Amino acid sequence: MRKSRISAVAAMAAAAALALTGCGGSGGDAGDGDTVKIGIKFDQPGLGFKDGEAYKGFDVDVAKYVAKELGFAEDKIEWVSAPSANRETLLETKQVDMIFATYSITDTRKERVAFAGPYFVAGQDLLVRQDDTSITGPETLTGKKLCSVTGSTSAKKVSDSYPGVSLVEQGGYADCLGLLETGGIDAVTTDDIILAGLAATEANKGKFKVVGNTFSEEKYGVGLSKDATTCADINTAITKMIDSGEWEKALQANTEGTGYSPNAKLNPPKPEACA
Ligand code: GLU
Repeated sequence: MRKSRISAVAAMAAAAALALTGCGGSGGDAGDGDTVKIGIKFDQPGLGFKDGEAYKGFDVDVAKYVAKELGFAEDKIEWVSAPSANRETLLETKQVDMIFATYSITDTRKERVAFAGPYFVAGQDLLVRQDDTSITGPETLTGKKLCSVTGSTSAKKVSDSYPGVSLVEQGGYADCLGLLETGGIDAVTTDDIILAGLAATEANKGKFKVVGNTFSEEKYGVGLSKDATTCADINTAITKMIDSGEWEKALQANTEGTGYSPNAKLNPPKPEACA
Protein backbone atom coordinates (compact mmCIF):
# COMPACT_ATOMS: atom_id res chain seq x y z
CA MET A 1 0.00 0.00 0.00
CA ARG A 2 2.54 2.47 1.21
CA LYS A 3 4.94 1.66 -1.56
CA SER A 4 2.37 2.12 -4.31
CA ARG A 5 1.34 5.47 -2.86
CA ILE A 6 4.89 6.68 -2.90
CA SER A 7 5.44 5.58 -6.47
CA ALA A 8 2.19 7.28 -7.46
CA VAL A 9 3.49 10.50 -5.94
CA ALA A 10 6.81 10.06 -7.72
CA ALA A 11 4.99 9.47 -10.99
CA MET A 12 2.95 12.63 -10.42
CA ALA A 13 6.07 14.62 -9.74
CA ALA A 14 7.70 13.28 -12.88
CA ALA A 15 4.61 14.11 -14.91
CA ALA A 16 4.57 17.60 -13.45
CA ALA A 17 8.23 18.00 -14.31
CA LEU A 18 7.57 17.00 -17.90
CA ALA A 19 4.55 19.27 -18.13
CA LEU A 20 6.54 22.23 -16.85
CA THR A 21 9.49 21.85 -19.14
CA GLY A 22 7.18 20.97 -21.96
CA CYS A 23 9.38 18.14 -23.19
CA GLY A 24 11.06 14.95 -22.18
CA GLY A 25 14.61 16.13 -22.57
CA SER A 26 14.86 17.05 -26.21
CA GLY A 27 16.21 20.53 -25.56
CA GLY A 28 14.70 23.67 -27.01
CA ASP A 29 13.67 26.74 -25.05
CA ALA A 30 12.70 24.76 -22.00
CA GLY A 31 16.31 23.80 -21.27
CA ASP A 32 17.70 20.30 -21.09
CA GLY A 33 14.46 18.77 -19.89
CA ASP A 34 15.18 18.42 -16.21
CA THR A 35 15.43 22.05 -15.22
CA VAL A 36 12.74 24.54 -14.42
CA LYS A 37 12.88 28.25 -15.22
CA ILE A 38 11.49 30.42 -12.49
CA GLY A 39 10.91 34.15 -12.82
CA ILE A 40 11.58 36.25 -9.71
CA LYS A 41 12.47 39.84 -8.94
CA PHE A 42 16.20 40.44 -8.60
CA ASP A 43 15.88 43.80 -6.82
CA GLN A 44 13.37 43.36 -4.02
CA PRO A 45 15.18 42.60 -0.73
CA GLY A 46 13.28 40.10 1.44
CA LEU A 47 11.20 38.87 -1.53
CA GLY A 48 13.27 38.23 -4.62
CA PHE A 49 16.84 39.42 -4.49
CA LYS A 50 20.02 38.48 -6.36
CA ASP A 51 22.92 38.68 -3.94
CA GLY A 52 26.04 37.81 -5.92
CA GLU A 53 25.34 34.27 -7.11
CA ALA A 54 22.68 33.66 -4.45
CA TYR A 55 18.94 34.23 -4.72
CA LYS A 56 17.12 35.18 -1.55
CA GLY A 57 13.73 36.17 -0.21
CA PHE A 58 10.25 34.92 0.58
CA ASP A 59 9.28 34.50 -3.10
CA VAL A 60 12.48 32.52 -3.63
CA ASP A 61 11.77 30.29 -0.62
CA VAL A 62 8.20 29.58 -1.74
CA ALA A 63 9.48 28.91 -5.27
CA LYS A 64 12.12 26.46 -4.01
CA TYR A 65 9.55 24.63 -1.87
CA VAL A 66 7.06 24.34 -4.73
CA ALA A 67 9.74 23.32 -7.23
CA LYS A 68 10.92 20.57 -4.90
CA GLU A 69 7.37 19.25 -4.52
CA LEU A 70 7.11 19.18 -8.32
CA GLY A 71 10.30 17.14 -8.54
CA PHE A 72 12.93 19.85 -9.12
CA ALA A 73 15.79 20.01 -6.65
CA GLU A 74 17.33 23.42 -6.03
CA ASP A 75 20.16 22.84 -8.48
CA LYS A 76 17.60 22.26 -11.24
CA ILE A 77 16.18 25.75 -10.92
CA GLU A 78 17.22 28.42 -13.37
CA TRP A 79 16.37 31.84 -11.93
CA VAL A 80 15.23 34.44 -14.45
CA SER A 81 14.74 38.15 -13.79
CA ALA A 82 11.03 39.03 -14.10
CA PRO A 83 10.45 42.79 -13.83
CA SER A 84 6.81 43.84 -13.34
CA ALA A 85 6.26 44.93 -16.94
CA ASN A 86 7.68 41.73 -18.49
CA ARG A 87 5.88 39.02 -16.55
CA GLU A 88 3.00 38.21 -18.90
CA THR A 89 5.29 38.14 -21.93
CA LEU A 90 7.83 35.91 -20.16
CA LEU A 91 5.07 33.37 -19.50
CA GLU A 92 3.41 33.65 -22.91
CA THR A 93 6.69 33.12 -24.74
CA LYS A 94 7.70 30.27 -22.38
CA GLN A 95 10.88 32.02 -21.32
CA VAL A 96 9.87 30.95 -17.81
CA ASP A 97 7.76 28.07 -16.50
CA MET A 98 6.55 29.77 -13.33
CA ILE A 99 6.73 33.24 -11.82
CA PHE A 100 7.02 34.01 -8.09
CA ALA A 101 7.51 37.77 -8.18
CA THR A 102 5.09 39.66 -5.91
CA TYR A 103 2.70 38.98 -8.78
CA SER A 104 -0.86 39.98 -7.95
CA ILE A 105 -3.69 37.85 -9.28
CA THR A 106 -5.96 40.12 -11.36
CA ASP A 107 -8.70 39.56 -13.92
CA THR A 108 -6.84 41.66 -16.49
CA ARG A 109 -3.72 39.51 -16.18
CA LYS A 110 -5.86 36.36 -16.32
CA GLU A 111 -6.67 37.28 -19.92
CA ARG A 112 -3.06 36.46 -20.81
CA VAL A 113 -1.76 34.14 -18.08
CA ALA A 114 -2.95 31.71 -15.40
CA PHE A 115 -2.30 31.74 -11.66
CA ALA A 116 -1.89 29.18 -8.91
CA GLY A 117 -2.12 30.38 -5.31
CA PRO A 118 -2.36 32.88 -3.74
CA TYR A 119 0.47 32.16 -1.30
CA PHE A 120 0.48 35.63 0.33
CA VAL A 121 -1.69 38.72 0.59
CA ALA A 122 -0.08 42.17 0.76
CA GLY A 123 -1.57 45.67 0.58
CA GLN A 124 -0.58 48.76 -1.40
CA ASP A 125 1.05 51.41 0.77
CA LEU A 126 3.34 54.44 0.54
CA LEU A 127 6.98 55.03 1.40
CA VAL A 128 8.10 58.58 2.26
CA ARG A 129 11.20 60.32 3.58
CA GLN A 130 11.65 59.79 7.32
CA ASP A 131 10.90 63.43 8.20
CA ASP A 132 7.79 63.77 6.01
CA THR A 133 4.57 64.27 7.97
CA SER A 134 2.48 65.62 5.09
CA ILE A 135 1.76 62.28 3.40
CA THR A 136 -0.46 59.97 5.43
CA GLY A 137 -2.38 58.13 2.72
CA PRO A 138 -3.27 58.27 -0.98
CA GLU A 139 -5.73 61.15 -0.46
CA THR A 140 -2.86 63.37 0.77
CA LEU A 141 -0.90 62.99 -2.48
CA THR A 142 -2.50 65.74 -4.53
CA GLY A 143 0.21 67.96 -5.96
CA LYS A 144 2.92 65.49 -4.88
CA LYS A 145 5.22 63.48 -7.10
CA LEU A 146 4.83 59.76 -6.74
CA CYS A 147 6.99 56.95 -8.12
CA SER A 148 5.91 53.44 -9.01
CA VAL A 149 6.79 50.74 -11.51
CA THR A 150 5.57 50.24 -15.07
CA GLY A 151 3.25 47.26 -15.43
CA SER A 152 2.39 47.05 -11.73
CA THR A 153 -1.03 47.12 -10.13
CA SER A 154 0.40 49.86 -7.89
CA ALA A 155 0.91 52.30 -10.79
CA LYS A 156 -2.47 51.39 -12.28
CA LYS A 157 -4.31 51.95 -9.00
CA VAL A 158 -2.85 55.45 -8.67
CA SER A 159 -3.58 56.51 -12.23
CA ASP A 160 -7.13 55.06 -12.07
CA SER A 161 -8.16 56.18 -8.58
CA TYR A 162 -6.00 59.26 -7.84
CA PRO A 163 -5.72 61.15 -11.13
CA GLY A 164 -4.56 64.36 -9.38
CA VAL A 165 -1.24 62.78 -8.44
CA SER A 166 1.72 63.09 -10.77
CA LEU A 167 3.14 59.65 -11.36
CA VAL A 168 6.71 58.85 -12.39
CA GLU A 169 7.27 55.29 -13.57
CA GLN A 170 10.49 53.33 -13.22
CA GLY A 171 11.51 49.77 -14.13
CA GLY A 172 11.88 48.63 -10.52
CA TYR A 173 11.08 49.89 -7.04
CA ALA A 174 14.72 50.21 -6.02
CA ASP A 175 15.05 52.84 -8.78
CA CYS A 176 12.21 54.81 -7.15
CA LEU A 177 14.04 54.89 -3.81
CA GLY A 178 17.00 56.67 -5.34
CA LEU A 179 14.67 59.43 -6.56
CA LEU A 180 12.97 59.63 -3.17
CA GLU A 181 16.28 60.15 -1.41
CA THR A 182 17.40 62.97 -3.69
CA GLY A 183 14.01 64.70 -3.55
CA GLY A 184 13.07 64.13 -7.20
CA ILE A 185 9.85 62.56 -5.96
CA ASP A 186 7.87 62.68 -2.68
CA ALA A 187 6.69 59.11 -2.24
CA VAL A 188 6.97 55.58 -3.61
CA THR A 189 3.96 53.33 -3.86
CA THR A 190 3.66 49.58 -4.04
CA ASP A 191 2.90 46.66 -1.72
CA ASP A 192 3.71 47.18 1.97
CA ILE A 193 5.98 44.13 2.19
CA ILE A 194 8.11 45.35 -0.74
CA LEU A 195 8.47 48.85 0.73
CA ALA A 196 9.40 47.44 4.16
CA GLY A 197 12.12 45.28 2.65
CA LEU A 198 13.62 48.15 0.65
CA ALA A 199 13.54 50.58 3.59
CA ALA A 200 15.30 48.10 5.89
CA THR A 201 18.46 47.57 3.84
CA GLU A 202 21.75 48.73 5.31
CA ALA A 203 22.02 51.52 2.74
CA ASN A 204 18.51 52.83 3.35
CA LYS A 205 18.17 52.45 7.10
CA GLY A 206 16.79 55.54 8.82
CA LYS A 207 16.07 57.37 5.56
CA PHE A 208 12.50 56.34 4.83
CA LYS A 209 9.31 55.16 6.51
CA VAL A 210 6.35 53.08 5.37
CA VAL A 211 3.16 55.09 5.96
CA GLY A 212 1.22 52.01 7.13
CA ASN A 213 -2.16 52.84 5.65
CA THR A 214 -2.88 50.17 3.04
CA PHE A 215 -5.41 50.80 0.28
CA SER A 216 -5.66 47.56 -1.69
CA GLU A 217 -5.47 43.78 -1.39
CA GLU A 218 -2.70 42.19 -3.44
CA LYS A 219 -2.98 38.42 -3.67
CA TYR A 220 0.37 36.99 -4.73
CA GLY A 221 -0.13 34.19 -7.23
CA VAL A 222 2.20 31.84 -9.05
CA GLY A 223 2.19 33.01 -12.65
CA LEU A 224 1.76 30.25 -15.26
CA SER A 225 1.18 30.10 -18.97
CA LYS A 226 -2.44 29.56 -19.97
CA ASP A 227 -1.76 26.00 -21.06
CA ALA A 228 0.21 24.92 -17.97
CA THR A 229 -1.11 21.76 -16.31
CA THR A 230 0.61 22.28 -12.97
CA CYS A 231 -1.78 24.63 -11.15
CA ALA A 232 -3.41 22.03 -8.89
CA ASP A 233 -0.05 20.47 -7.94
CA ILE A 234 1.34 23.91 -7.12
CA ASN A 235 -1.66 24.63 -4.91
CA THR A 236 -1.14 21.31 -3.11
CA ALA A 237 2.50 22.27 -2.53
CA ILE A 238 1.55 25.73 -1.20
CA THR A 239 -0.98 24.19 1.19
CA LYS A 240 1.66 21.72 2.38
CA MET A 241 4.15 24.53 2.94
CA ILE A 242 1.59 26.43 5.03
CA ASP A 243 0.42 23.38 7.03
CA SER A 244 3.96 22.24 7.79
CA GLY A 245 4.98 25.58 9.31
CA GLU A 246 7.61 26.19 6.59
CA TRP A 247 5.61 29.08 5.15
CA GLU A 248 5.56 30.92 8.49
CA LYS A 249 9.26 30.22 9.03
CA ALA A 250 10.17 31.56 5.60
CA LEU A 251 8.02 34.67 6.02
CA GLN A 252 9.53 35.43 9.41
CA ALA A 253 13.11 34.86 8.31
CA ASN A 254 12.68 37.14 5.31
CA THR A 255 10.91 40.02 7.07
CA GLU A 256 12.95 39.94 10.26
CA GLY A 257 14.26 43.36 11.25
CA THR A 258 12.05 45.21 8.77
CA GLY A 259 9.29 46.03 11.25
CA TYR A 260 6.81 44.46 8.85
CA SER A 261 3.94 42.38 10.08
CA PRO A 262 1.65 40.74 7.56
CA ASN A 263 -2.11 41.26 7.65
CA ALA A 264 -3.09 38.39 9.95
CA LYS A 265 -6.71 38.48 8.79
CA LEU A 266 -5.68 37.65 5.24
CA ASN A 267 -2.65 35.43 5.85
CA PRO A 268 -1.88 32.71 5.25
CA PRO A 269 -4.38 32.61 2.38
CA LYS A 270 -6.07 29.55 0.96
CA PRO A 271 -5.14 28.80 -2.66
CA GLU A 272 -8.04 29.39 -5.05
CA ALA A 273 -9.48 26.70 -7.28
CA CYS A 274 -7.59 26.34 -10.57
CA ALA A 275 -9.44 27.42 -13.70
N1 GLU B 1 1.86 43.17 -6.52
C1 GLU B 1 1.82 44.23 -7.44
C2 GLU B 1 1.84 43.74 -8.88
O1 GLU B 1 1.81 42.59 -9.13
C3 GLU B 1 2.95 45.23 -7.23
C4 GLU B 1 4.30 44.62 -7.07
C5 GLU B 1 5.03 44.34 -8.36
O2 GLU B 1 5.07 45.21 -9.25
O3 GLU B 1 5.60 43.26 -8.47
O4 GLU B 1 1.87 44.51 -9.81
